[in-house]
Amino acid sequence: MHLSFVIPCYNESENVEAMHDAVAAVMEGCGFSYEMVFVDDGSRDDTFARLKALHARSRQYVRVLRFSRNFGKESAIYAGLSHAKGELVTLIDADLQQPPALALEMARFLDENEDYDCVAAFQERRLESRRLSFLKKSFYKLINRMTEIEFVQGASDFRTMRRRMVDAILSMGETNRFSKGIFSWVGFCTHYIPYRAEDRHAGASKWNTWKLFKYALDGIVSFTTMPLRLTAFAGLGTAFVSLLYTIVVVIKKLFFGIDVPGYATLAVLILLLGGLQLFAMGILGEYLAKTYGESKCRPIYLTRTVLEPREPDQKTN
Ligand code: UDP
Ligand code: MG
Repeated sequence: MHLSFVIPCYNESENVEAMHDAVAAVMEGCGFSYEMVFVDDGSRDDTFARLKALHARSRQYVRVLRFSRNFGKESAIYAGLSHAKGELVTLIDADLQQPPALALEMARFLDENEDYDCVAAFQERRLESRRLSFLKKSFYKLINRMTEIEFVQGASDFRTMRRRMVDAILSMGETNRFSKGIFSWVGFCTHYIPYRAEDRHAGASKWNTWKLFKYALDGIVSFTTMPLRLTAFAGLGTAFVSLLYTIVVVIKKLFFGIDVPGYATLAVLILLLGGLQLFAMGILGEYLAKTYGESKCRPIYLTRTVLEPREPDQKTN
């Protein structure tokens, strides 16, 4: 079996060597052949220089892709998957939060269990604040209720997949990529194993609450049109209630004459309906924007440099 490690890197200059060494240490003499596909996602530090040095000195098979700018982790994953040659492919972060030894365990599991196509790791206990944990839990509840596919609580991108699943993922050419949804959407048999995320080896996480919120919204818009349907229902409900109220107003007018005080009712109605309309338009806008983005068919990533693996006896130049 040949195992590819796909490693997205954005400003990970202090981590890539440690990551490379950790993978090499785990894989040495394990019986699998392997390669590492580092994707430099437009880093602003010297990540690429370090990767280039790694590529030059490494006896192992190291492939390096350098993007023309920062395209985001999702694009880096796609690029890595398209350049990986293994029958099994592991997605793993560059910051050593996810132990490479577990990747080997995943590969062994797939080697022994033909029925499974993927082993994914999920975090049993998260190293994060209660507020963030709560928000994430609520997101999973919400998205699972709205979509037909299942999003597994705490499951990360850290996983090992068989070639057929990788090809299925690559066949989904959408520009707006939400991997968690894509992994579930393609189906295949996934085995989940728990893991404990380590502290970051060096550097800082690229996520903050606002980015996570946008990411969650992207996930919902990418995988369900339920919000559109809900606005339609809300519109229908409001129309129905308005009709009842109209009848009340007409009856009042006919039998009791014009009731002058009514400013509060009017103000409330205008504000409520105006708000509802803007909200519905916002939801429509989100879907329209996504459709607009996809309709341009822009590439998912652009590479500036690709360093192919050296043959074991090839000299560095
Ligand atoms: N990453 C990337 N492009 C980005 C942001 C992140 O390739 O625009 C990579 C990053 O280098 C790391 C992985 O994605 O290898 C996970 O990022 P991070 O550690 O910031 O996320 P966290 O572990 O905090 O969820
Ligand atoms: Mg991390």
